[in-house]
Amino acid sequence: MEVTTVEKYSENLIETRMLLDEINAGVLALDKITGEILFCNEHVCAALGKERDYILGKSYKQIFRPEFIPVYERLLIECENGIENSTVYYWPEKNVWEQVSVKETEYNATSCILLTITDVSDIVRTRYKHDNLVYFDPVLHLPNGEKLEQDINELANLETVSLLFITLEQLTELYNLYGWENGDQLLISIRDWLLESETRRAQLYVIDRGFAILGRNVDMGDIKARAKEILTRFNRPWEICSDGHVISVFCPVKAGVIHGKYIKNEMRNILLRTSWMVPKYEGFAVYDEETDGHIRRMIALRAWLVQCVNTGMQGFDVYYQPIIKLDNMKWSAVEALCRWTAPDGEAVSPIEFIHLAEQLGLIEQIDSWVRKRAMRDCVKLGLDQKDFFLSVNFSPTHKVNEKFMHGLMRNLLETGFPAKKLNLEITESAKMSFEEEDLRALKKLEDAGVMLCLDDFGTGYSSISNLVNISAQILKTEKKFIDGMVGNDYKQYLLRVLADLAAHLGMSLIVEGVETEAQLELIQGFNIDYAQGYYFSRPVPFEQLAAKTGNFSL
Ligand code: C2E
Ligand code: CA
Repeated sequence: MEVTTVEKYSENLIETRMLLDEINAGVLALDKITGEILFCNEHVCAALGKERDYILGKSYKQIFRPEFIPVYERLLIECENGIENSTVYYWPEKNVWEQVSVKETEYNATSCILLTITDVSDIVRTRYKHDNLVYFDPVLHLPNGEKLEQDINELANLETVSLLFITLEQLTELYNLYGWENGDQLLISIRDWLLESETRRAQLYVIDRGFAILGRNVDMGDIKARAKEILTRFNRPWEICSDGHVISVFCPVKAGVIHGKYIKNEMRNILLRTSWMVPKYEGFAVYDEETDGHIRRMIALRAWLVQCVNTGMQGFDVYYQPIIKLDNMKWSAVEALCRWTAPDGEAVSPIEFIHLAEQLGLIEQIDSWVRKRAMRDCVKLGLDQKDFFLSVNFSPTHKVNEKFMHGLMRNLLETGFPAKKLNLEITESAKMSFEEEDLRALKKLEDAGVMLCLDDFGTGYSSISNLVNISAQILKTEKKFIDGMVGNDYKQYLLRVLADLAAHLGMSLIVEGVETEAQLELIQGFNIDYAQGYYFSRPVPFEQLAAKTGNFSL
């Protein structure tokens, strides 16, 4: 017997329905206009606990759970507007998450809505666990920096967001001092206060060494007021409970605000760079045009510095400033001072680029280049044949090891400059503390005849111990010592004491920063060997130094 197309079609339809009953998802077809349920599979019947005959022909409003009706209706509207055609719905009684999707289609020549409901609980739970691990701080139960960045990326194009961040400046020290548990307690107390005292629409995050508050559509006045309020709270100690006792902990803090357009795109970098932001308003910093310009310039300078040093010291030069012997007023030495013109033509101050070079680990390369160039220049001018020495600077971040020693010896050999006319100016600084290995290497330098000078003597933190540990031949005072000395008995007394100390120890003293005749006259009355400063000459390029060789003693 021949099977007709209609029969085949109806057979197929029955099979399709049976297949739909097998699948592990709810499928319903609803009349688009009346909302009548035209079809549902077995899964829907089981979920609702109703027979198919009971469900079919009824309006969805009679069948769906009351909480589900608005979810479905909103989805219909969104689907019609082309926004969304699916959503995740939580069914609390069953503790399941369902993915609900709608699609417009034809069913038995009627315009209808095809609704599918899939249980996605496992996926949601796994995702939740993952998000919890990745995006939440386990101690403070707050979203972390990763989440902050994600939220900002989502919000920043839609709203004006602002970020108020609080950096706990001595967190590591506080943890070391009070122990982990108390450190955590402190953070929890701060978190609680921040949450309790927040009145705006804002979200709190925990970031590296601090907190961040993301405000949405808030004005700058409000944020500044909140920053002030937070800083004021940090003026008082935090009370934490430790072993049954209450202890008061002061927690130094730094605050800053990043508002609106600056937040977009570069969030993570900006947060990192907030340490460069200088507090301008009552104790807190605001990321504004000026800060942005400053930070961009710093970034450009860093990149240029690396590039210039690594491509044959482009834009670098050495200037020389004479050091005058006070008993005959002859030029007796020069200090080699590094100069750098950045690729945009700006002459960058050494204070700025030397500091950057130290941070970038480029200082040894720069110093070595300056030394070699200076030795070569002095040999060219025949200064090494005179009663003369060459001072070169030596950053306190240097490691004074064998490698450094060999590098320096090679410089001397290659240029033919005599070791005993080289003076290494070691800058005093809080960071400077020499280890056994450093001291041994310095001793070798000394044995080779190289002179050592403690630069900026008296302004660092370790002057006296360095005086004992390093057998320096020269002390050099910083400009601060001579500034305002004329008419100031106390300053004069200080310089006299230093001069006597140097003489007593058999060391020479160089007074730096002499700018006026009055200053010169004063120090001539003290027991001082050398002076350096603008009064005699500013640092000059090689050509100008070459024109002044007659100023040196024979
Ligand atoms: P510094 O070693 O204390 O060098 C002396 C600084 O004081 C120089 O500044 C010099 O130009 C300035 N100076 C000298 N006399 C006067 C004066 O009468 N009045 C005033 N106002 N300033 C005077 P400069 O060249 O800007 O160098 C600044 C600092 O950069 C140096 O301080 C030194 O610490 C560092 N530096 C410069 N070149 C090098 C280098 O090749 N290597 C290292 N490691 N540091 C360097
Ligand atoms: Ca110096």
